Order: sequence, then structure tokens, then C-alpha cells
Amino acid sequence: MDKLIHGIAADGTIRLMSAITTQTVTEAVRRHQTTPTASAALGRTLTGSLLLGTSLKDFDRLTVRIDAKGDIGGIVAETTPNGRVRGYVRNPNATSPNKNNGKFDVSGIVGEGTFYVIRESGFDLGLHRDPYVGSVPIVSGEIAEDFAYYLANSEQIPSAVMLGVLLQNSEPYVSASGGVMIQMMPGANEHIITMIEDTIRHAPHLTSIINEGAAPQDLLELALGEIPFDVLEEKEVEFKCNCSRERAITLVSSLGKEEVQDMLEKDKGAVMDCGFCNEQYRLSEDDLREIIEEI
Ligand code: ZN
Repeated sequence: MDKLIHGIAADGTIRLMSAITTQTVTEAVRRHQTTPTASAALGRTLTGSLLLGTSLKDFDRLTVRIDAKGDIGGIVAETTPNGRVRGYVRNPNATSPNKNNGKFDVSGIVGEGTFYVIRESGFDLGLHRDPYVGSVPIVSGEIAEDFAYYLANSEQIPSAVMLGVLLQNSEPYVSASGGVMIQMMPGANEHIITMIEDTIRHAPHLTSIINEGAAPQDLLELALGEIPFDVLEEKEVEFKCNCSRERAITLVSSLGKEEVQDMLEKDKGAVMDCGFCNEQYRLSEDDLREIIEEI
């Protein structure tokens, strides 16, 4: 199973997160049938959200929403502290020719727009506090740079972010995915920051070492070079949605007797698609009759 680790370096002035998300992104791509370019965009966003969600245990839910003017239209990823993430892109068919260096032209399908981070607390307890929403303009569209720009400008945390998705032409399409997020807290030594930036600049591609079997710890070693660090926490991560047939039935019940009666007579059933995971729930005429009885 995919793993995420959380660590510190330089007496806690540097916070580190890294994750291998190959299976997580494989599941997202399988569910949404995204083009390679859209898969890279979605995979990077899912991974970045998991990394950003690591340090936010007090919050129950973190959503990254990218409103994009490019062909992809938008990207949404939602994560909870238990390592679950779910998400989608508005247009899974968005595509653009690869760049000259062979890389996916993610910024070509994202374009301009706004990068939002929404933090909600206590939503599952029915506690409705106002969500915290931070936003910055999309500065790169390559996703990793946008996470870094958001952290620096909206949360005043200078950061280095690397996100990568490596694809192949046959199933399961995703051969490697993962990311690293390094956050410089107040008091971080300028010299160490420069060292990390330099190491990252010269590091091999994340996805090539993930493809060779690297663990999250190896990604941190790659990013930190000689700087020692401590791992504080390790957890499993996965693509998992919280939708279910029961929830679909509850949703239909909440529409009221008249509306459900209408569905039964006109549509002879109901079909519901979950936008987050593309799961489809079909309710038969009998299901609808049962719902009406229970209302
Ligand atoms: Zn779902």
C-alpha cells in the first residue's frame, strides 16, 4: 500500500513530508479514465493534497480546488487525516502535446486561474464552523510550483515541492507517482535552505527512483542530501471515496415523497454518479417504492 511519512530536520525548523502514491493515482486514473496529461495533473494534485494534509491533524478535511481556464476546467482533491484522498478533474479528456523535453504539458491544459485550499473542521460531527479558504492565482500550472507559491504567499511558509507522475502506455498506466514537500518554519537557517534548494535542483527525477522501488524515506534523502532528519510518523494512503449505496438512498429520501414518486413514474428508477470517484448507483423501481414507503 502507498505510504506517506512526516519528519523534521534542523531542530524542527524544517518540516518534511513525502509520499509514494503510485497505487493511489492508478486508482484515480482507472476510475476517471483521464488522458495522460490529465492523469499527470490529477495525480500531482492528489499527491500534493495528501502532503499538505499531513501537518493539519486538527482539521478534519482539506480540499485543494484548482479553477482552471485551460481545457481541463478544474481539478479537485479532498483529503482527510486518515490518509484518504479522493478527487477528479472537470474534463478528463483534456490533452495537449508533450513538451519538447518529453514531459507532459500540464500547464498547457491548466492555464490561468485560481488555486484554492479549503480547510473544514468538524464537518462529520455536524459542527458547521466557517471553512478557512486561502487562494492564490495559478502561477505555473505545473501544480508543484503552485503548491509552493500557495504555501509561501497564503500561509507565509517558504516551501519546496516536488510532485511527479510517470505513465506507461498499457494498463495500469501509472508506473510511478509521489512527491516531497519541505516547509521552512520561522527560524530556519538560510544556509540550510540554500543547501536544500541546491540539492533539489540537481536531484534525479523523483519518478525514476520511485519506479526503481524507492520508499518515502528515500525521497527525503534525495531532497535533503547530507542533512540529517527524523521521521515522526508514517501512515498508509489511498484513493478512497466516502460515497456508498446507503448514502445514495439517503440522498434520494431527502428529496421528499413527491419527488421520488415523480422519479418512479417518469424515469422508472434513478441513476446517480459520484463526481469524486465516478462510481454509479442505480436504484430500481422497487428501490424507489421502498424509499417512498419509508418516507
Ligand atoms: Zn464516490
